Amino acid sequence: MDLTVDYIRERHRYWRYRIADEEIWDVIKFEPVEFEVRPRSKTYNALFHRKIVKGKPYDRIIIYRKVPDMPIKFVDNLIVHEMIHQYIFQNNLYDSSTHGFLFRHYMQRINETFKGELDIAIKSEAPKLKGPGDTTYMLMVVKMPDEYLFCNIRPGKMKFFEEHARQENFKYLWGKTNDMFFDRVPRCTKVLQGYSVSPDNMEAFVTEHRIILLNRHDLP
Ligand SMILES: [Zn+2]
Repeated sequence: MDLTVDYIRERHRYWRYRIADEEIWDVIKFEPVEFEVRPRSKTYNALFHRKIVKGKPYDRIIIYRKVPDMPIKFVDNLIVHEMIHQYIFQNNLYDSSTHGFLFRHYMQRINETFKGELDIAIKSEAPKLKGPGDTTYMLMVVKMPDEYLFCNIRPGKMKFFEEHARQENFKYLWGKTNDMFFDRVPRCTKVLQGYSVSPDNMEAFVTEHRIILLNRHDLP
């Protein structure tokens, strides 16, 4: 995923509404905020920063590029963490410290409500890029004219995409892996999209990411 100001703004908007839908915060109680992407920092993963100019506050959320290709979930956790700071600041809510009882209250409610999507921490660790994780990814490997698409399918949507592939006459097979590489490949819910691999690199890719192909005999 390409970490840009536009990307952060879009995810900020997305979570502002999703979390408001669960009545955890009020969508209209967010004041303007600027976004910034900065190079890797040893000290920070992200920061909410307020500057006062002539008595007026200017708020900024800064995300640091820890690794060249930032995992989507990792960035979401950073953004929502800073959004909690923003919400507390912009509404003058009292908290016992920077990550005091109120911050933790929001953090826990959000983590419980969005299990599997968000796992905000007080102090986040730099992302791991590869290797076994504790999520199993269901992959629909779709054969395109000159590439294979490795699509990360939400388990509840497997039937839906099978039907879709049948209608479109796509050749495909299923695979699974727990390689955290697929944390960065957005899960398909409505539209089939995925990570593209050339036929020459197919075998190496499958081996590298320990993908178990479930019905290999279906491969054309
Ligand atoms: Zn913080």
